[in-house]
Amino acid sequence: MYFRDIIGQEAIKRHLIESARSGVVPHAQLFTERGGTGSFALALAYAQYLNCTERSETDACGHCPSCLKYDALAHPDLHFVFPIVAKKERKKEICDDYLPEWRAFLQEHTYFGLDEWLDAMEAGNSQALIYSKESDEIVHKLSLKIYEAEYRVLLVWMPEKLHPTCANKLLKVIEEPPAKTVILMVSETPDMVLGTIQSRAQRLNIPAILPEDMAHALETRFGLVPEDAKYVAHLANGNFLKAVEAISVNEETQFFLEQFKQIMRNSWARNVKAMKEQADLLASIGREKQKNFLAYCQRLVRENFVYRFQAPELNYMNRDEATFAIRFSPFVNERNVFDLMEELDKAEQHITQNVNPKMVFFDLALKITVLIKR
Ligand SMILES: [Zn+2]
Repeated sequence: MYFRDIIGQEAIKRHLIESARSGVVPHAQLFTERGGTGSFALALAYAQYLNCTERSETDACGHCPSCLKYDALAHPDLHFVFPIVAKKERKKEICDDYLPEWRAFLQEHTYFGLDEWLDAMEAGNSQALIYSKESDEIVHKLSLKIYEAEYRVLLVWMPEKLHPTCANKLLKVIEEPPAKTVILMVSETPDMVLGTIQSRAQRLNIPAILPEDMAHALETRFGLVPEDAKYVAHLANGNFLKAVEAISVNEETQFFLEQFKQIMRNSWARNVKAMKEQADLLASIGREKQKNFLAYCQRLVRENFVYRFQAPELNYMNRDEATFAIRFSPFVNERNVFDLMEELDKAEQHITQNVNPKMVFFDLALKITVLIKR
């Protein structure tokens, strides 16, 4: 892992690089984040940088023997501890039993949370934990002689998932650390980590990704145009996983926008036949999608109302939505905006309460017919 693969976080990167270059490397460090900000990747890039023999001022070299082994996630002095779903029948009881899956997973994911890893393990509904059996592994690994690295690294993802036996063993190691050993822990819920571990580790809070860094990444990695990238970055609120999710639901957004336009056009034209047809179509898309659609309509009504004030910093629309707003926004005004929102909200409640969706959407269209002309 390289610092350059991680979006933004320039201050954190500078801090880690400075730590490596000055040789002031705390032996126990706890990286914390709220999710999707790259803390695991930062810890791994830091470990690689610490051991790179030809590092530059900004990153590991990528070709020294240490980097090559780090690239393959197979350095003999790099150890991983992470939550697993134990499967005795398949002889999967400790982290090392999952190493092939874990390495493949890390090769594919720079940003991830527990959900992604659970999917990769095919965990189903099982909980993932770091079992007590892992404590012997940790003690054993750290009692070995260091093979070749400058720093042996134990990278613990989610120390909050440690079985108490294991957490206490880790605490002992932290209290009496073996020479040249660095324990990097990465947590999304640091308050759940054993208090004595928290207090003995140097804490590094990884902040949300800055909107401009996120937008830039979305443009270069996904080819989004600047306006869309800015919009998605805003929605994602510093969490790259959320940004990726937002991009993947784009298709749905497109469908919703078309349906929203259709409802408004039908109602304006008082085209009852078209209203009926659309209600039938919307009745067929499933309850969850219906609710999402009605929530989307409320957002768009709000955005069109705000659009009238010409304050772009308050508007969060993608390009297609904004194009539509040029012509549509004059129809949303102080005389109808609250009633429109209320009707959409009521429709959403009715869907939740299992009212026949054909009736809900047809009824909604009729009400909009009256409201839109105010
Ligand atoms: Zn290197």
